[in-house]
Amino acid sequence: MEIIRHLRNGSFIFFGIISSASAHSPPQADAAANAPQAPDEVLFQNVRVFDGKSSSISAPVNVLVRGNTIQEISASPIRTATGAQIIHGRQKVLMPGLIDAHWHAMMAALPPARMMTAEVADLNFIAAQEANNTLMRGFTSVRDLGGPVFALKRAIDANMVNGPRIWPSGSIISQTGGHADFRMTYDIPSSGNAALSRGEAIGGGIVADGTNEVLKRTREQLMLGASQIKLAAGGGVSSHYDPIDVAQYTEDEFRAAVSAADNWGTYVAVHAYTPKSIQTALKGGVKVIEHGQLLDEDTAKMMAKKGAWLSSQAFIDNEYANPQAGENRAKQKQVQAGTDESFKWASKYKLKVAWGTDILFNPKMTRNQGALLTTMTRWYSPAEVLKMATSSNAELLSLSGERSPYKGKLGVIEQGALADMLLVDGDPIADIQLIANPSKNLLVIMKDGLIYKNLAE
Ligand SMILES: [Zn+2]
Repeated sequence: MEIIRHLRNGSFIFFGIISSASAHSPPQADAAANAPQAPDEVLFQNVRVFDGKSSSISAPVNVLVRGNTIQEISASPIRTATGAQIIHGRQKVLMPGLIDAHWHAMMAALPPARMMTAEVADLNFIAAQEANNTLMRGFTSVRDLGGPVFALKRAIDANMVNGPRIWPSGSIISQTGGHADFRMTYDIPSSGNAALSRGEAIGGGIVADGTNEVLKRTREQLMLGASQIKLAAGGGVSSHYDPIDVAQYTEDEFRAAVSAADNWGTYVAVHAYTPKSIQTALKGGVKVIEHGQLLDEDTAKMMAKKGAWLSSQAFIDNEYANPQAGENRAKQKQVQAGTDESFKWASKYKLKVAWGTDILFNPKMTRNQGALLTTMTRWYSPAEVLKMATSSNAELLSLSGERSPYKGKLGVIEQGALADMLLVDGDPIADIQLIANPSKNLLVIMKDGLIYKNLAE
């Protein structure tokens, strides 16, 4: 396996000073000192294409990548510059890089006890290793729905660490006793000038009660570079103080977060399962519902009317479910029991549906990221599932507008789009299980025009 690390268009933000390295500038970090330069052009010859939008695979074509962009797609031979890298596709299938719309780069591979006790440096090293694994599973972009991910994102963008593009939310904003209140019961009652808890100090979740505090905490995440804001709107499975049925935050508090995000050109997503939590958030102007497994018909209608997104997961009682114990296991079963019906309502009311995994706190489970995508075939055709994880998820990412960290089109293979692509050893529409075994079946992994894996030559 060939891994090429190279700096291209890497931008690095440090104390407000922004510097941008131009295309093909020499690597700045020692880590990349021995890496070969990426060629100006990469030509995929004789590939069939799943373009992220169509339900079928194309006839054989050639695809030229120049810099970080898809330059040309043609059934006729394409001329290349001298020094172009040629990849012989042998009619394998080229598809857009996968996008996970609900990921936690800092928490996916870390048990909670370790999360709360480790040094911050440990958290970053573990997350960096998992970021590389994520990219090697074919996920070239993730929407991060909570956690102190800003430094990791910068390191990936500067090619100091291999990993996916990250759309960060930063700290999950939670009311007292809500889904992201990670304090201990002995911290309660808290005094007005109480020190931040560990989970707050490291940027995992931050408690905010009342519109003023919600405004302040929202603005803080935007200052740190959040591309969207995450609030907890109702009971959670992995959290300890909030039964599943409770609603969290008032309409006014949602409106405060939404107005601060809107001033910054972006939006608020909420963790919510139940009708009441979803409806209150929607009334407060929230645009994206994360999970939604317990939504009912009226709530689906309301989401449709408001054009809200359902950012959902294949939460069923199978081997891929996040391991839970005791009361949390009971809560998990409640949520899993609603999943079939939530997708039924989503289809009936033609909701915009995004897909993510939400793998949490377990290094053994992260390897199932692709397998979790394949389980979506319980509700959707393989082509629909693959479109969801590419072009639909990219549409959701674009809600961040100017706060999107990466300019250009993703989730599709078309002229002018960013070159995030996978070469698959087979047809993923005919056999979506190929995605579940990425080390074997993903022959080429390209992100931003750079080749991170190449078994094709
Ligand atoms: Zn989550």
